[in-house]
Amino acid sequence: MSSSFEQSHVEFRHRPTYAEVCLNSLRSNLRAIQAFVGDAKVMAVIKANGYGHGFEQVAKTLEAAGVHSFGVAYIEEAIELRKLGITHPILVFGGLLKEQLDLYIENDVQVTASSVTKMEQIEEAAARLGRRAKVQLKIDTGLERIGVHYYTAPTLFDAALKSQHCEVVGVYSHFADVRREDLSTTKLQLERFLESLRYFEERATAPFLRHIAASGGLMALPESQLDMVRPGLSLYGVYPSAGLDSLLKLNPVLSLKSQVVYFKVVQKGAGVSYGHTWVAPEDTRVVTIPLGYGDGYLRRLSGNSEVLIRGQRSPIVGAICMDQLMVNVGQGVAYNGDEVVLFGQQGTEQITVEEVARASGLSPYEILVTLNQRIPRVFVGN
Ligand SMILES: *Cc1c(COP(=O)(O)O)cnc(C)c1O
Repeated sequence: MSSSFEQSHVEFRHRPTYAEVCLNSLRSNLRAIQAFVGDAKVMAVIKANGYGHGFEQVAKTLEAAGVHSFGVAYIEEAIELRKLGITHPILVFGGLLKEQLDLYIENDVQVTASSVTKMEQIEEAAARLGRRAKVQLKIDTGLERIGVHYYTAPTLFDAALKSQHCEVVGVYSHFADVRREDLSTTKLQLERFLESLRYFEERATAPFLRHIAASGGLMALPESQLDMVRPGLSLYGVYPSAGLDSLLKLNPVLSLKSQVVYFKVVQKGAGVSYGHTWVAPEDTRVVTIPLGYGDGYLRRLSGNSEVLIRGQRSPIVGAICMDQLMVNVGQGVAYNGDEVVLFGQQGTEQITVEEVARASGLSPYEILVTLNQRIPRVFVGN
């Protein structure tokens, strides 16, 4: 892995903007979550390029650190993991079409069986291939996404119990809304899940994993941890909602950094960037940073984000362009080549993804996964 580290450094010499991904923090977050959930297994959720952190490094680091299994959204992601040499169990959460089933079975990827029809299709594909399919049954307890409704769950359970070619590895559900200040919906969903499970528990002949909690649930409602938890965001050191940081100490894994590439004084009354949405109220020092919405640093963050330069917070002003953005350093000092931190720490100051999410009305999930391949990932803490 040291060679890819060096390679990344070469890339970041070409591009002053990069995302620093600290693999030690990733490992310590996994350890913290594992300690918090005790005997429950941890399925690491690494869909969408490991929430923007880098699929391969995240997967290999977590596999080596002893995670139980991986969760992804699409079969393509699961196949990519297998190609990278990941041998741990992989569950695909998303809905599927029957044409995709051979890929699941051939790559030993667990299928989400979300209806009786899907269950029958999986059974048929497994029989045709002469292989056993591993399935996890999906119960909808209130998200109204994929999954059989909790009140008709016995139909799916019966189909699974009848199957000759499928092994039921787990039964799971997903919370719609986890907010610590009001857990009523979360608790209701957990109740519905446990209640519907009883039917299967009475009839199943082999052990299986029951799980419902992602990052928010495992922290805010520990009784929802059950046999397994499925953290995504928290593994990357980011809290899904307010009021959870007192429960579990996490370290942000990703820092977004760049450098000042231009300095100018904007005269009082001059508009900055497209549309002149910001006009200098007085003669103002403005620097340009080579990062924009074409990198996934969304336009929505204009007027809502600050950056760190020389240890000081300075606001982004004017519309964020595709490849550049402008920062008001006021009467402060900044030189070409100065380090700019958009997420992360500089000196004693820190800008968190959560803070930017709150200010912009975006979710921390969106902010991370939107950072695209144009931004080199530099892995540290190996
Ligand atoms: C994305 C996802 C998760 C992870 O959620 P976080 O809030 O990031 O922890 C868990 N389970 C399912 C089904 C998901 O789609």
